[in-house]
Amino acid sequence: MTNHLVDFHVHTDNSYDGNHSATFICEKAEFNNLRAIAFTDHCEVDRCIKDYAHERAVFQTFFEISKVKSAFRGKILVLNGIELGQPNYAPEIASRILDSQKFDVVLGSIHNLRNGFDPYYGESFTEDETKDFMNEYFDEMINLCKWGDFDVLAHLTYPLRYFFAKSGILVNLNDYKKQVDEILRLTAKKDKALEINTAGLRQKLGRLQPETDIVKRFKELGGKFISVGSDAHYADDLAKGITEAYKSAFDAGFDSITLFQNRSPIQMKITEEN
Ligand SMILES: [Zn+2]
Ligand SMILES: [Zn+2]
Repeated sequence: MTNHLVDFHVHTDNSYDGNHSATFICEKAEFNNLRAIAFTDHCEVDRCIKDYAHERAVFQTFFEISKVKSAFRGKILVLNGIELGQPNYAPEIASRILDSQKFDVVLGSIHNLRNGFDPYYGESFTEDETKDFMNEYFDEMINLCKWGDFDVLAHLTYPLRYFFAKSGILVNLNDYKKQVDEILRLTAKKDKALEINTAGLRQKLGRLQPETDIVKRFKELGGKFISVGSDAHYADDLAKGITEAYKSAFDAGFDSITLFQNRSPIQMKITEEN
């Protein structure tokens, strides 16, 4: 049996760094035989404090997704998602956004620390800067999990992409084992899904985020749900690496991938064969 392809982390041009419309991406999804796609445009919650435009973009996405949902009905299951960045920095705003419409799936992310620094924008890093950043980053991930109003913990190892691409530094997660275990334990305990994000495969890092050993540890700590996403910002990247993500989930002991509709998990069986 061939596994059905789904992609639960996709950005449209309603994200500040997205490039294609929801319609164009859905056409591509239909062409590639995807079963389901969740649009998860960015909402950097901490930036909403000063700039209402971020919150307004959420409504623009919602209207576009509503249109493609009906246009592609019967062909692809289109889901209304959001990637909430740093919701734990401004929880009242995050709650207001979540109450403003019906979401199918909410991704919880940390891109920047409380001082606003996101390694995506950095030019180069020293080992010490990397260590300081990772310590604070994982502490914020723990805070994000404690806050908890999301369905999928997105790209657990996000900063690794940029530390490696810009300075050749490969972060060793064993140095942060206590924090990573705490994040995985909370994610499992609160019945959230851990995302296997495939964007790293297309970048210099060349790895899934997180890798299979971490997914296995999540399972050991009681994790039940795995979500998969390409984090595509271009239609061409849609579903790239999803087959590798299924294999990683399977090797880690999961026989299903989780989809979300109306913020409720739906299990989709996967097999070893792809
Ligand atoms: Zn992200
Ligand atoms: Zn994203």
